[in-house]
Amino acid sequence: MSSILSKRMAHIKPSPTLAVTKKAASMAAQGAHVISLGAGEPDFPTPDSVKEAGIDAIRSDMTRYTAVAGTAELKEAIRHKFKRDNNLTYTDDEVIVGVGGKQVLYNAFMATLDVGDEVIIPAPYWVSYPDMVKLAGGTPVIVSCGEEQGFKLSPAMVRQAMTERTKWLVLNSPGNPSGAVYSRQELQALANVLKDAPHVWVMSDDMYEHIVYASDVFATMASVDPAMKPRVLTVNGVSKAYSMTGWRIGFAGGDRHVIGAMAKIQSQSTSNPCSISQHAAAQALLGEQHFLVERNERFRERRDYVVNFLNDVEGLSCRMPEGAFYVFVCCRPLLGKGGIKSDIDFADYILSEEKVALVAGTAFGCEGYFRVSYATSLELLQEACRRIKRACERLRKA
Ligand code: PLP
Repeated sequence: MSSILSKRMAHIKPSPTLAVTKKAASMAAQGAHVISLGAGEPDFPTPDSVKEAGIDAIRSDMTRYTAVAGTAELKEAIRHKFKRDNNLTYTDDEVIVGVGGKQVLYNAFMATLDVGDEVIIPAPYWVSYPDMVKLAGGTPVIVSCGEEQGFKLSPAMVRQAMTERTKWLVLNSPGNPSGAVYSRQELQALANVLKDAPHVWVMSDDMYEHIVYASDVFATMASVDPAMKPRVLTVNGVSKAYSMTGWRIGFAGGDRHVIGAMAKIQSQSTSNPCSISQHAAAQALLGEQHFLVERNERFRERRDYVVNFLNDVEGLSCRMPEGAFYVFVCCRPLLGKGGIKSDIDFADYILSEEKVALVAGTAFGCEGYFRVSYATSLELLQEACRRIKRACERLRKA
């Protein structure tokens, strides 16, 4: 019998980070004491004022369809946020709200890519970019950015990767999984290369904007170089900063034709994002922001613990990430021992032997590494690190 599935499905894989989380959850359901460091979500609760706004939205009957691209209230809050945090001015028709940053990015690719169009994606990358590009018919062009260059793209690498078919360069800072943060100067240097290539646009994924460990380090392409702003899509959301992963609200600012095309896709697929979540997200963006600093202090304590501990384990090494809540750890010296051939084997081994869920670097386009998400309590991180150390000691002796 011929398959009902479309040809495009042959090239798409399910999100590996969600797969690890699912496997860890099923082991836990069978009684194993699994520590899951696989998922990319903060363990903090959604702030109370935001929860209240969600409850208010239900009580006051904000429960109907809204405008497809987002309510006037939330779009106004987003424009305010872009001005306040990034010094970026967008008009109402230059802003769209989607079902998480994920839908916003997906719709942007769907709205702009034709078969054969290329998208430059620096590796290690967030797992979904290449598959989204493929779903939209485009061709991901993966550029490996090694640890020796801080997991960051250089201007020379961009110049080399660009062709006449390049439509987008994806930039994600702070980066998932590397935690690397591009400085203003580094972004300006990339912008200088792009000045000679007006057909290349920048997809700036700023999802971890607020999770940075030095003050004033966050920079985003559209505000670093105003000449680039017309061809930058600035994508952000409330999932990570405001611990609202389940509310599913992301947004973008950019060229109104691109935004309009994204809204058209949304109008024929999901319609508006959840009305209740939109009201809550407006509260998150407009409300008191100081708790972000307090939460970052907690993240910093966890980051320092994990990085220092793992750097003391023979066979493992990692650089100090400047943002996000991930550590990207090199395990190459341990490969080849005890039948462990790859980072995928390594992550499987740690999960089955020590019940710690990690994501293999291969999922992010970077072999020989694994990602630790430290968005969980210090106690659990301490226990997980001890277990990882024990497994590595066993492997070294194998
Ligand atoms: N971009 C990056 C770099 C991410 O890590 C994530 C989530 O893990 C997203 C986008 C999507 O975020 P959301 O949960 O808002 O869809």
